[in-house]
Amino acid sequence: MKLFGSSGIRGLANVDVTPELLLDLGRTVGTEYREVVVGRDPRISGPMLAAAFQSGVLSVGGSVCDAGLVSTPTLARGASGYGCGAVITASHNPGEYNGIKLWNPDGMAFTEEQQAAIEERLAARDWTPAAWQETGRATTRGDHVERHLESILRAEGSAELRVVVDCACGATGNVTPYVLREMGCRVTALNAQMDGHFPGRDPEPTEENLTALTRAVQALEADLGIAHDGDGDRMVAVDAKGAFVGGDRLLAIFARERARKGLVVPVDASMAFEDMLPGVPVYRTRVGDVFVAQEIKRRGADFGGEPSGTFIFPDETMCPDGPLAAALLVGLVKETPLKQLVDAAPAYPVVRGSLPFEPARKATLLASVGETMAALAHDVMTLDGWRLSFGDGWALVRFSGTEPRIRVTAEARTVARAKELYDNVYAAVKGVVA
Ligand code: MG
Repeated sequence: MKLFGSSGIRGLANVDVTPELLLDLGRTVGTEYREVVVGRDPRISGPMLAAAFQSGVLSVGGSVCDAGLVSTPTLARGASGYGCGAVITASHNPGEYNGIKLWNPDGMAFTEEQQAAIEERLAARDWTPAAWQETGRATTRGDHVERHLESILRAEGSAELRVVVDCACGATGNVTPYVLREMGCRVTALNAQMDGHFPGRDPEPTEENLTALTRAVQALEADLGIAHDGDGDRMVAVDAKGAFVGGDRLLAIFARERARKGLVVPVDASMAFEDMLPGVPVYRTRVGDVFVAQEIKRRGADFGGEPSGTFIFPDETMCPDGPLAAALLVGLVKETPLKQLVDAAPAYPVVRGSLPFEPARKATLLASVGETMAALAHDVMTLDGWRLSFGDGWALVRFSGTEPRIRVTAEARTVARAKELYDNVYAAVKGVVA
């Protein structure tokens, strides 16, 4: 079974993601990268898994720097100067999950090739225990958060807004509220106490999970609300009226502001980008922030991101940095109310849904869904699933990477046409799966 997904390894803590696995992974990563900086989000299983991973690195003679409780972008930026960085986190998954994601010194997530090389070495148990006097050196370092704050403050100036920040009791509690306060904002922080039980809300920053933030923004008459996922690589917002502004809308706002040489978005992002940015090349990738980062590098693009709420500003770092995105958004809202920014970025109607499939039939279904999709449109992009272009709209069919479901998305310039495309494609997929 493939261990790594596009976001590293993730699963149920102490069931799928065990100390034994992390120990072996530490041996593997230590052999390959030698000096590893390790951080974790506040999940209850974090100390157990971090200790196992660190032990593995040390046992093959690698060195470990413990960065403690940090957000994913804090750690990814902190990987500079080390062989690599590792963060023990399950991102936006509920508390019972955990995992690990690995980072290059330039802040870019490990590529598929790097992850495959690790898997290969892990499977072959290809490492050599160090002699006792050559087991690695363990240090701790407490200034990663401070350095993250400083880099964000260098990137964005002052703003005197009233802002409510919801950190989900995750790892951004020691970053975003402080950054925005330093900028001059009046900050009210919700769920900023780190707590691996996630008592405040589910760590996924969806509209349904952000009712407390919405109410707080309204009650305090704030200019805007900011929310992160559990580990802080994602950011979404709420406008002054309390309306949810999702990652797709923020992606459009940042793209309009930042993309000049090139924009990178995944296949599930809107066709509004091509319409909105005449003269700016729009490059599409597979779904996953690492694919966006790789394409930004390859094309020399100046911005990229995903509708899920990850944004990459390559002048600052190659990792999706939620607190940085929050600061940059505050910088924009200082000039123009968020609602106005949202209204100015074009958006087309999107219809989304999914249907379950029998996991055992996946290989057969992949082939037959592919055949069916190829027959539905002339122009089919197979970068990630099947993206069917119809001139006035598109539809995407993808097998989920995290659960046994096939996701169907359709977008067009009118609701009726988006619905029609969705219904046609959904029916075709259903015909194959049934
Ligand atoms: Mg995340």
